[in-house]
Amino acid sequence: MSQQPNTPPTSGRLQLNAVSKSFLRRGGGTPMLAVDHVSLDIPKGEFVTLLGPSGCGKTTTLRLIAGFEMPTSGQILLDDQDITNRPPNKRDMGMVFQSYALFPHMTVFDNITYGLELRKISRQNIKEQTNHALEMVGLTGLGERRPNQLSGGQQQRVALARAMVIEPRVLLFDEPLSNLDAKLRVQMRSEIRNLQKRMNITSIYVTHDQTEAMAMSDRIVVMNAGHIEQIGVPSEIYRRPASRFVADFIGRANFVETQIESVNGDGVTVRLLGQTVTVPMSTRPNIGDKFEAVLRPEGLKLHNDPSLQQVLVEQAMYLGSEIEYIVQANGKSLIVVDTDPRSEFVYSEGQTIGLGMVHETIQLLPLAPR
Ligand code: ADP
Ligand code: MG
Repeated sequence: MSQQPNTPPTSGRLQLNAVSKSFLRRGGGTPMLAVDHVSLDIPKGEFVTLLGPSGCGKTTTLRLIAGFEMPTSGQILLDDQDITNRPPNKRDMGMVFQSYALFPHMTVFDNITYGLELRKISRQNIKEQTNHALEMVGLTGLGERRPNQLSGGQQQRVALARAMVIEPRVLLFDEPLSNLDAKLRVQMRSEIRNLQKRMNITSIYVTHDQTEAMAMSDRIVVMNAGHIEQIGVPSEIYRRPASRFVADFIGRANFVETQIESVNGDGVTVRLLGQTVTVPMSTRPNIGDKFEAVLRPEGLKLHNDPSLQQVLVEQAMYLGSEIEYIVQANGKSLIVVDTDPRSEFVYSEGQTIGLGMVHETIQLLPLAPR
């Protein structure tokens, strides 16, 4: 770290152009495509999360960026320079792993200076920069300890300091909080994010935890089976999922089949749960086309209104900040969440009640053939 910690590194735009990676299968056969034509353009300073289930190719994508794996095809650019074939130590990137990966026999201080010593910086500067890094991650005074004398959270802070102290152009994180307990995980989220913002370092963060991704990211890249399903800011991903996979993976969703009744202006009209609903849509479907409506639980409302479709409350769970209902609508179970559970509007199991919808929260997806 320089003496002026607020001076950001001068660069850090990262681009992936149709990057693919296939692995040979054990026992032969066709190679397995772990990363499938992934393209990304990440401006300097952006915090981007790769989010998806286990095995979808997040770590492999990160290792390709770091240079630990070579792509089968495609190109990786850093500040418009092709770094596809550059070795990891020439990429100017720092990486933080789930397992911390600290040297157990070295002090905290020496763990952090490790990267600086490879760079041939003067002793005095190394000391200053390391102390500054320790201060940034809140470990001032613990430099002489060894990793096994620190808690998990402190060890991960050391790993973070070690990655940052070289002022890399890009920081890479592979599930860095997975080994920490729930409370510390939430606290470290904001620490990492604040530090990253202050230093303005382009960051690629891998997680399978959607809440973590939502809380931390400028943009989220949702991955499935090696390919990108959707890229967007957290609210877009949640409110306008591009596929059933995304709608299902991020948050909770009810799926209800419907078909187009009419097409008008920049929207379409469908019949949904006994109501005629107009939903904005950028494409122009045909009347009768089948779609799947994504209904977020908090976009459904229970009202004592006989003009609405009547549903049966099967289950009501009071969770303090919200009430979660399971209701039966025409033989279909739906989840409804009331995020403002005032006692006069609480419904109980066995009750029949009207079901309304907040129309703006409805998203229509083409019905995928099954
Ligand atoms: P994620 O990090 O999203 O859980 P990975 O990138 O680790 O997923 O793995 C993606 C797929 O590639 C998985 O099916 C995994 O088994 C496979 N894979 C990863 N690394 C290798 C390797 N070195 N050799 C063979 N297959 C691999
Ligand atoms: Mg992984």
